[in-house]
Amino acid sequence: MNTALYINGEKAQGLGERFSVLNPANEKEIISVDGATVEQVNQTIQDALTASKQWKNSSDSNVNGFFTKIAADIRKESDEIAHLITLEQGKPLGLAEFEVQAGASWIEYIANLEIPVETIEDPSGKKIKVFNRPLGVVASITPWNWPFMIAIWHLFPALKTKNCIVNKPSEYTPLSTVKLVEIINRHLPKGVCSLVLGKGDIGQALSEHPDIAKVTFTGSTRTGQSILSHSVNTLKSVVLELGGNDVGIVLDDIDIDSVAEKIFGSAFLNMGQTCAALKRLYVHEKIFDKLTNKLVEIANAQVIGDGLDSSTTFGPVQNKMQYHKVNMLIDDAIAQGGQVITIRKQFKESGYFIAPTLVTDVQEGIALVDEEQFGPVLPIVKFSDIDDVIKRANNTQFGLGGSVWSKDIAKAEYIANQLECGTVWINSHSDLSPAAVFGGWKLSGLGYSFGLDGLLLFTHKQAIHITQ
Ligand code: NDP
Repeated sequence: MNTALYINGEKAQGLGERFSVLNPANEKEIISVDGATVEQVNQTIQDALTASKQWKNSSDSNVNGFFTKIAADIRKESDEIAHLITLEQGKPLGLAEFEVQAGASWIEYIANLEIPVETIEDPSGKKIKVFNRPLGVVASITPWNWPFMIAIWHLFPALKTKNCIVNKPSEYTPLSTVKLVEIINRHLPKGVCSLVLGKGDIGQALSEHPDIAKVTFTGSTRTGQSILSHSVNTLKSVVLELGGNDVGIVLDDIDIDSVAEKIFGSAFLNMGQTCAALKRLYVHEKIFDKLTNKLVEIANAQVIGDGLDSSTTFGPVQNKMQYHKVNMLIDDAIAQGGQVITIRKQFKESGYFIAPTLVTDVQEGIALVDEEQFGPVLPIVKFSDIDDVIKRANNTQFGLGGSVWSKDIAKAEYIANQLECGTVWINSHSDLSPAAVFGGWKLSGLGYSFGLDGLLLFTHKQAIHITQ
C-alpha cells in the first residue's frame, strides 16, 4: 500500500510524526503512515514554485490531454481505488465505486472547459483584453467524508488554470488520495501536483506558507475561520467549503413513495457525512404521518455492516469523534422530548456503527435541529404555513443548500427564491453538478467551486489595454 509523500514528482518517505489509519468498520489499524516534517512541507512548496514557472505556460491542449489520460487511468484502476476508499472511509463499496467513476467524469468535464479571454471596447474605442492568469502555488486541505472526490474537486480546477498545487488529505483517510496523486504524477511534469501527509501541524504549515497564493479548504467552520485569519499577512485568497444545516421543505402534494426514497437517499448519503446532505426536514402536517412512516420503513430496511460486504447498504461513521458527536446529539434530543421513530439498533462488536435514525417531536432550539449533525440522524419537524416555514428555514447561521419538494414547480420556485443559501434543489437534494457554481452563504463558506465561476477563482484577472 502506497503511503508516500509526493515531492517534486517523486515519492518521498515522510520524516515526521507517524500516525495510524484505522478501518472504521472494525477500528483496526490498516497501516501506519509517516507524516511530513515542516521542512518537507517547505521543500515541497519550493519545488512547486519552481515547477509553476513552466507549468503556467502549458498549452490548453497539453493540459486537457493530461487530464484525459489521468481520468482513463482512474477508470482502469477503479476497483483498487474503490476498495481503498471503503477500507479507510467506511462507505459501502457501491458508493465508493460511484465516487471513483463520478470523480473521473468530473475531471473529463473540467478538461473540456474553456478559459475565456474577454475583449472589451471601452467608450473611447480603446481595446482591452482581459486574461485569466494562474496564481502560482495553491494549498489544498481535503476532508475524510468523500476523500477521493473532494481531492478531485480541489486539484483539477487549480491545475486546469495552470497553477501548481500541494494537497494535504485528512489524516483519517489519506490512502485513496495518495493513489490519486500517484496516478496524476504519472502524467504531469514534476512538482506540479504534490502531496504532504500529516496530523497536527502540517495543514497549518502548508496553508500559512508565504509562497502559497491560495488555500482551498473543505471541512469545519472553525478550521476555515482559522485559515482565513492566517491568510491576512500575505493577502492569500481562500475558498472555504464549510458545514451546512440544509433544510428540506416538503409540501402536501408529493408522491410519498418516490419522494421518501429520494429524501432518505439525500439525508443519509454517505451515512449523512456530506456537507450538502439534507439535515433538517420540514414536512407539511397533512402528509407528516404517511411520509415519516415510509421513511421509517426505508431506514429500518438498511443492512448495516462493513462496507466491503456485498450485502451492506449502510456503513459505519468514519471516525470516533464523529461517532460520539452524533450519539450525543441523539441523546440530547431524546432528553428534550424527541422521539426516535426508527429501530435503535445496538452494535456489540467494534466499529463506529449508528443505524439511520429519524427523530420527531423536535423543534428549533434543540441542538439536533440547530446544529450540523454530519451523520446518520435526521430531525423531522411538522409545519402548516409556508411563510412560517421559510422563516424557520432561514433562521440558521448556515447557508449551504436547501430543497423544496412539490409537484407544483411554480410554488416550489417561490419558496426556493426566498431561501438564504447557495444552492436550492427542487425535488432532489445534494446532487451536485460540475457545471453549476456551488458555495455557502453565512458560516457555510467563502468563495465558490465548480462551473466556470469556480474555476476562475483560481486565477488573477489581467487587463491589457491596447492603444494603437
Ligand atoms: P477540520 O475541519 O478541523 O479539518 C481538519 C484538517 O484541517 C486536517 O487535515 C488538519 O491538518 C487541517 N488543518 C487544521 N488547521 C489548519 C490550518 N490552520 N490550516 C490548514 N489546515 C489546517 O476537520 P475534522 O476532521 O476535525 O472535523 C471536524 C468537523 O468538521 C466534523 O465534525 C464535521 O462536522 C465537519 N466536517 C465537514 C466537512 C465538509 O465537507 N464540510 C468534511 C469533514 C468534516 P493538521 O492535522 O495537519 O492540522
